[in-house]
Amino acid sequence: MTNGAPTPTRQRSKERNHFLAGVLDGALSHDGHGFPGQVEYRWEGREDDGTVYAVIYDRYEDTHLDCVHCGRTVDDLTWNNDGTMTWTIDGVSACGDGVHEPQHVYVVTLDTIARGLGIIRNAVLADFREGDEAVRVLANATTGERLGVHPDIRRAIMLMDRTNGDEGDTDVFGYLAILECAIFGQVVYS
Ligand SMILES: [Zn+2]
Repeated sequence: MTNGAPTPTRQRSKERNHFLAGVLDGALSHDGHGFPGQVEYRWEGREDDGTVYAVIYDRYEDTHLDCVHCGRTVDDLTWNNDGTMTWTIDGVSACGDGVHEPQHVYVVTLDTIARGLGIIRNAVLADFREGDEAVRVLANATTGERLGVHPDIRRAIMLMDRTNGDEGDTDVFGYLAILECAIFGQVVYS
């Protein structure tokens, strides 16, 4: 059942949808080098209208998918018609006084990818200290936190962003950087 599965809030061109879906795919196809583990990834027949989405967890967090209430690990996800998620363990969704709420879980739509690109696009130079050294590097314009994206990588990503992938090129670490900026506001792993 995916009736209430997430859809993007913005209409985009087919070319833009394909580009953003390609970025998501590049980040998820990390072959063990990246943070996202997949719960669900729906892309087939969804690239043209931009309804590609994934539910991921942060596999670098020891408590990923563990319920905040009962501490047990969820094993199944269903979507409700109102867009909320129901997580179950052995087919049961309730624990104690509530329902299972797994940790370190993120729903990623093409809006998410667009947000990550926006954070990289809007990045500003800021001064940080590295031990005794003062360094001027890219920072998240909203939070002021260090972005963790090298200017060369940013340049390549921005060229892809402007041309919907016709020009520019990046590797899995560039794709992961976009996804990490979208979710964490900065690159924390790759
Ligand atoms: Zn629980």
